[in-house]
Amino acid sequence: MASLAFSKAVPNFKLEVEARSGATAAGIRFHKRFEILVGANGHFRTGSLAGVRGVYKQYVPDGQWFRLAATVRGDAVEVRINDMPVVSYRSPDPIEPAAPTLHGHDAFRNLRVTPILEDCTTPPPSVDATSRLIADAALRGIPAADLHVHLKLGLTLEQAVAKSLHDGIQYGIAVNCGKGFPTENDAAALAFIDSLKGQPIFVAMQAEGREWVQMFSRRVVEQFDYVFTDSMTWTDNHGRRMRTWIADEVGRIADPQEFMDTLVDRAVGILETERVNIYANPTFLPDQLSKDYETLWTDARRKRVIAAAIKGGVAIEINNRYKLPSQSFIQMAKAAGAKFTFGTNNTGPNDLGRCEYGWQMVEACKLDARDFWLPKTPR
Ligand SMILES: [Zn+2]
Repeated sequence: MASLAFSKAVPNFKLEVEARSGATAAGIRFHKRFEILVGANGHFRTGSLAGVRGVYKQYVPDGQWFRLAATVRGDAVEVRINDMPVVSYRSPDPIEPAAPTLHGHDAFRNLRVTPILEDCTTPPPSVDATSRLIADAALRGIPAADLHVHLKLGLTLEQAVAKSLHDGIQYGIAVNCGKGFPTENDAAALAFIDSLKGQPIFVAMQAEGREWVQMFSRRVVEQFDYVFTDSMTWTDNHGRRMRTWIADEVGRIADPQEFMDTLVDRAVGILETERVNIYANPTFLPDQLSKDYETLWTDARRKRVIAAAIKGGVAIEINNRYKLPSQSFIQMAKAAGAKFTFGTNNTGPNDLGRCEYGWQMVEACKLDARDFWLPKTPR
């Protein structure tokens, strides 16, 4: 344990230090129960408040010095990495002041701690059922990450980052890339990546249609933190290209069994060959079939899709917008060893929640930290 020049237990202070992550975990402890991690612990990365608020992206490579700052006002903790806010947390419980201590050999230099003297008392944060689930999950190391967020219908990057920090859910912000979308080539994809530089988020490519494989170079695809796709756009055995969420393109489904077999074939093909990380909007069915979801998704069909995801190393999204896959599907996939992510696929600011369906499935299917996938960063 390194001791500090400033060692009195004050509730409010600003701490600035240069840090680097390395082979062993290091951290900054204060107020009895808080520790800011330097280095990884399970899914939690540098900047996380251990067991409380996760940072799931590694922003600075191991071994490289960076500026780490914490502003602590009693039960309110803000963490910044190179001036970028990564955690903003209010504890619902009263704190017990304890002076900050640094733990970890060679992980720190140039420490400065300044007390904040003005009174910082504010009313405690509101706590509801979802924030309790998020807190419970953090204790168990389950990542609170919504990896399928879109800046659409006026949801700005600033609003998304503010909501992410407030809710304690890290976002992956995705651009739709493919035929008929504004992002149809490498230059447009790179412009999107550039527009999100320096933000506390993952940057994701949503690969659209089946044509995307030919439209973007591997070099550019690899600059995204991860790639996901769904099996909602495909061409059937009669040459009909359809987007399965658009009733007019689907037409009347005369033979639901044949439709399901084709859908499963396409999903398996995508998962085994397209080199994506996440299967988004999984098991989605067109409106006219969705009421028969449990029976049309026979065990045999489920097994094929789950096996293909595992074989392709593709995580299965637990989708908040469509509430998919169903609980029984997730249970089967977990038993087979599949990995999961949370994703909302919001249409704008109003339907970006707090992964409510995901937390519900964590409880119902007893998912734990090992059942979740996160991007490896830097790639
Ligand atoms: Zn999407």
